[in-house]
Amino acid sequence: AYAGHQFGHFTVLGDGRAILLGEQITPCGNRMDIQLKGAGQTRFSRRGDGRAALGPMLREYIISEAMHALGIPTTRSLAVVTTGEPVYRERVLQGAVLTRVAASHIRVGTLEWASAHNDQGATRALADYTRARHYPQLADSPEPYVALFDAIVARQASLIARWQLVGFIHGVMNTDNMALSGETIDYGPCAFMDTYDPATVFSSIDYGGRYAYGNQPAIAQWNLARLAEAMLPLFDPDADRAAERATATLDRFPALFEQHWLDGMRAKLGLFTRERDDEGLVNDLLALMLRQSADFTNTFRLITTGRLLVHSTNTDPELEAWYRRLEARRGRQPQSPAEAAALMRRHNPAFIPRNHKVEEALSAASSSDDWSVMARLLEVLATPYDHERDLPAFSAPSVGDGSYRTFCGT
Ligand code: AMP
Ligand code: MG
Repeated sequence: AYAGHQFGHFTVLGDGRAILLGEQITPCGNRMDIQLKGAGQTRFSRRGDGRAALGPMLREYIISEAMHALGIPTTRSLAVVTTGEPVYRERVLQGAVLTRVAASHIRVGTLEWASAHNDQGATRALADYTRARHYPQLADSPEPYVALFDAIVARQASLIARWQLVGFIHGVMNTDNMALSGETIDYGPCAFMDTYDPATVFSSIDYGGRYAYGNQPAIAQWNLARLAEAMLPLFDPDADRAAERATATLDRFPALFEQHWLDGMRAKLGLFTRERDDEGLVNDLLALMLRQSADFTNTFRLITTGRLLVHSTNTDPELEAWYRRLEARRGRQPQSPAEAAALMRRHNPAFIPRNHKVEEALSAASSSDDWSVMARLLEVLATPYDHERDLPAFSAPSVGDGSYRTFCGT
């Protein structure tokens, strides 16, 4: 059972097609949830069939595994199996079940559910459970619930910064799709941005661009405000004081995010030290990229290999001036160019799941029962920071008119 704000509107929904099998303690002592997605109707299915089609489950498999290889906290995909049963959407599709492994499935919407039922006992029990399971270091905190909220905010600021740094667009950042563990969860119409543009949206149902690339940090903060509302009575018995505590923590989100993002951008540019104008240096690059419709991943890839200027056909004097600034900036740090290059290689992926490659893999598997395309893609995506491989077919951006659309697959 969970609730959530979907595109800004509150609904009590619960999982309509997922069954939590239970927990497993891994050999290193981590407690993991194992869940089946697409296993059939549940008591929350409303009018849905509880099923999933093969394509969307394979998309979750590919993208979540790619995210894991990129070093970004995420639920994992253990298996996708076809059910042998048809699933009726716009067309008849093959049914499939995804086995998902997660640190837990506790979402912002789980606490919203308790709060919507005016059940303070349940809210407190859930918060205690979440703290014990995901933030055990806070056990002795004098203000345990404020500390928990603080820690959740901090983890989300770091997670969303990681998304922004690789151009990942979640697509449906509803509060029921935000895990309190800080893992990326519920891969629906997600996709990676090719051409840099903060307004990039792929999801076919996101008409207003609410979940556009550039909006993700603000939406995360908005979701955390909904979490704060659900937790409010736990912060302080006095409503005004509780609101003050919540607001103080929420207000820290933008600065926390900025710090993670800027540190990540420094690493992407081979910078170890901090200087006042670093943010200006990064923003000037992004402005140039926007103007030139540059590919996000490949621009940083060219910076990593030192070929940014070599590559441009008609060298833009502004880009050249920017690159000289970067070189001068690097000259003011004690680290060697080789160390800078190694830092960049660790932070700039050579390979991301390019939209057309994902589509190719899904289509081969679901239409022709050919799994080799997906196997090859997964193999490339398993070592995204390996810059030694020259695989133009996997690093080239999708060619198209920017009309690529993704679907929830519900
Ligand atoms: P999602 O967009 O995947 O986060 O799903 C939003 C809500 O719709 C969740 O409660 C899902 O469990 C539910 N849902 C999605 N697909 C189905 C389906 N085929 N049958 C029933 N419920 C579904
Ligand atoms: Mg969901």
